[in-house]
Amino acid sequence: MNAYHDAHNHLQHPALRPHLAEILSTVRALPVNWMVVNGTAESDWEKVAEMAKELSFVIPSFGLHPWFLSERSKNWEEALRTYLTQTSCAVGEVGLDLWMQNSDLQLQKKILRIHLELAAEFQRPITIHCLRAWSELLELLPTVPIPNCGFLIHSYGGPTRMIEKFLPFGSYFSFSGYFLSPGKEEKAQTFREVPYDRLLVETDAPDMPLPAERNQFQLPNAAGFERPNHPANIQAVVRGLAEIRKRPEDELLRMVGQNFYRLFEDVIPSEAAR
Ligand SMILES: [Zn+2]
Repeated sequence: MNAYHDAHNHLQHPALRPHLAEILSTVRALPVNWMVVNGTAESDWEKVAEMAKELSFVIPSFGLHPWFLSERSKNWEEALRTYLTQTSCAVGEVGLDLWMQNSDLQLQKKILRIHLELAAEFQRPITIHCLRAWSELLELLPTVPIPNCGFLIHSYGGPTRMIEKFLPFGSYFSFSGYFLSPGKEEKAQTFREVPYDRLLVETDAPDMPLPAERNQFQLPNAAGFERPNHPANIQAVVRGLAEIRKRPEDELLRMVGQNFYRLFEDVIPSEAAR
């Protein structure tokens, strides 16, 4: 159980591709037992599916990220349903984002609802992205189906007082290393209030870079992408969260491992199948 579990990343991202061989050997050495690799648009879903076939530690997840909704085809829902039927995958990344420019909240809600309906129909965990739309997300939850295992709000950056409002709906909250950056202390401290059994850790690699002094594994800048985050920085993320929770690192690692298995149980292949 004392291995790392990255609840949210984008291993399929082009910024990581030139360094994939090194990344894979580094995460295997840690070891990272499981990582949930999130597709963001139909254009990267097949890459995610391929990685899950080739890499024994990848749990594939398919969804439409709010930043890329305009790229969706009219058959996206059918395509997502096909992945859910044919593979043991999770749902996401999907969500609400009022931080981005020209956000269309009604459209985002409609797309999120469809993802939640599919996640509940197939009983799969779902990962939600939320930026500056906390009350909108909270208002939506009582009106939508939710899978029995619950859902993940990744890189939770909402107010501390709202944690207890999300909990009854089955929410888990994942901590990312970006919250260890100067100026983000308040967001980091929020994670002191998440119940121990709803706490997860993530890199969101190549996004959400850690501050330089915490950045254990570095990658060169890619075209159009600065300071890509390395998935093996999950170790530094756990260390940072252990400091915030004032708990021993190995105890925290064990706890988030158990939480990971509880939330993603239905999409983790049995050991015999590995
Ligand atoms: Zn993400």
